[in-house]
Amino acid sequence: MTDLDVVVVGAGFSGIYAVHAFRSAGLTVRAFEAGDGIGGTWFWNSYPGARCDVESKDYSYSFSPELEQEWSWSERYPAQPEILRYLNYVADKFALWPYIQRSTRVTGASWDAATASWTVTTADGGALTARYIATAVGCLSEFQVPDLPGLDSFEGPWYHTSRWPRAGVDFAGQRVGLVGTGSTGIQIAPEIAAVAGHLHVFQRTANFAVPNRNRPWLDAEEREFKSRYRQYRAQARESFLGVPVTGTGRPLLSEPPEDVQRLFTARWQAGGGMPFLGAYTDLLVSQAANDVVAEFMRDRIRETVLDPEVAELLCPRGYPVGAKRLCQSDDYYAMFNRPNVSLVDIRSAPIESVYPGGLKTTSDSYELDALVFATGFDALTGALFAMDIRGVAGLPLRSAWATGAAAYLGVAAAGFPNMFVITGPGSPAVFSNVVLSIEQHVEWVRDCIAWLRARGHTTIEPTADAQRAWMSHVSEVANATLFPKADSWYVGANIPGKPRVFTSYVGGCGPYRAKCDAVAAAGYEGFRVAGA
Ligand SMILES: Cc1cc2nc3c(=O)[nH]c(=O)nc-3n(C[C@H](O)[C@H](O)[C@H](O)COP(=O)(O)OP(=O)(O)OC[C@H]3O[C@@H](n4cnc5c(N)ncnc54)[C@H](O)[C@@H]3O)c2cc1C
Repeated sequence: MTDLDVVVVGAGFSGIYAVHAFRSAGLTVRAFEAGDGIGGTWFWNSYPGARCDVESKDYSYSFSPELEQEWSWSERYPAQPEILRYLNYVADKFALWPYIQRSTRVTGASWDAATASWTVTTADGGALTARYIATAVGCLSEFQVPDLPGLDSFEGPWYHTSRWPRAGVDFAGQRVGLVGTGSTGIQIAPEIAAVAGHLHVFQRTANFAVPNRNRPWLDAEEREFKSRYRQYRAQARESFLGVPVTGTGRPLLSEPPEDVQRLFTARWQAGGGMPFLGAYTDLLVSQAANDVVAEFMRDRIRETVLDPEVAELLCPRGYPVGAKRLCQSDDYYAMFNRPNVSLVDIRSAPIESVYPGGLKTTSDSYELDALVFATGFDALTGALFAMDIRGVAGLPLRSAWATGAAAYLGVAAAGFPNMFVITGPGSPAVFSNVVLSIEQHVEWVRDCIAWLRARGHTTIEPTADAQRAWMSHVSEVANATLFPKADSWYVGANIPGKPRVFTSYVGGCGPYRAKCDAVAAAGYEGFRVAGA
């Protein structure tokens, strides 16, 4: 007998839904969450300007039509506090609190073949056993601070955006240095610039950013939309990105150039990243087609930023649009027209060190009162490797994945029976509306466990062959696209020493779901089951 049927690690969008879904299927569950609140990404990333960049009508749970109808979003892309309120509301509504243990970090989990169970240990010295473990630790939760010589000597405060002080930070009149210009850097920069004495933006790589055109959700619009929400969600499930996007269905290169410009202009005015990426069928596979959208976006930067030298520096080059996460902001580029903002190119003159009064690059020194790192995460594997997970014969997950993470269907790993990785490597997660991917994984895992129980099986584990075949399919699909062509966190390029492997499935959410369903319908093909 185990203490529980399932231990869930983490209580963000994934863990919260996993607790609800598994409990509803009659399983005993406990989720452990390191934070003292639930919400994951939306609990930790409380920096000014934090908001989702997939519209909340999509970036929200679809499992409960009632929830869908009764919750109202205030705007197209709500800010972090509202998303956090939503997740707390979900926990209240479905009475999940007794099953989520907060302020408890899972430190390790080890598989015991004799009892077909996991022993899960926590930082407070606790240990319990469970038949299954579902990691819901987040693809973007293990944050990264660059290893800068002298950082300890800095006399002012420094912050990472993913551990923002709850009480907020007052930058009024200060000289602030911001390191990192990805999605988060682009969101926080205009907020800091609005109050700081001076903001220095240290840019290593210029990123593409499209406008959000954020605005309030009007009541009438919401009512009309909600009258067809079910139908909309069904379309989302079958879609490529987990959001229904109306594309032309034709390759850009076959279109008259003036039509292409007209369509991009309309999409730029409407806002949002996914409508761009889904506009033509060849944008993410043909460099020539991608060059057209890249130049369109560079033109928008040049027409917004008044200083031509700054504009050129802000123009991304050398990688395809979409191969790094496409950023979204309504005011990032225009912010560089403010007299209190300067852009520092740390590609040509890298940061050398931090000194008590500021930051030194190889060509200059910058006097600073505060430093902000928007330097991202050890994506996909960081939070998994932070635990000591040991599978068959005590094999550490870190060793099993030393040359690159691998999971059959992106949800289960050979050598780690009865462990499910919600939005694991090999799944479309980070290339999609992540909430939709989370729901699909959680429901697939719930049904798998129900199937095992109905047959009295006690273990399930993917075969090494099935896993190899899946991961080579993942690579093959990726290599037919432009996605692996950028040095990005998608390939681990932001973490020194991390193997450069593209482990996300870019074959589309709809086809991926069909594949997962087919595996289940064939009696969990590619998995070995045992017991009874
Ligand atoms: C700033 C930001 C904005 C984003 N915006 C979007 C967006 O607009 N659209 C989109 O699709 N995606 C977005 N994402 C991706 C986002 O991470 C996912 O959409 C989603 O929130 C992930 O949910 P999760 O539950 O899987 O992981 P998380 O939300 O990361 O939650 C994981 C939880 O696990 C906990 N945990 C980790 N390790 C342990 C441990 N050992 N023991 C106990 N607890 C542990 C963490 O504390 C965390 O609370 C964004 C990410 C960031 C960082």
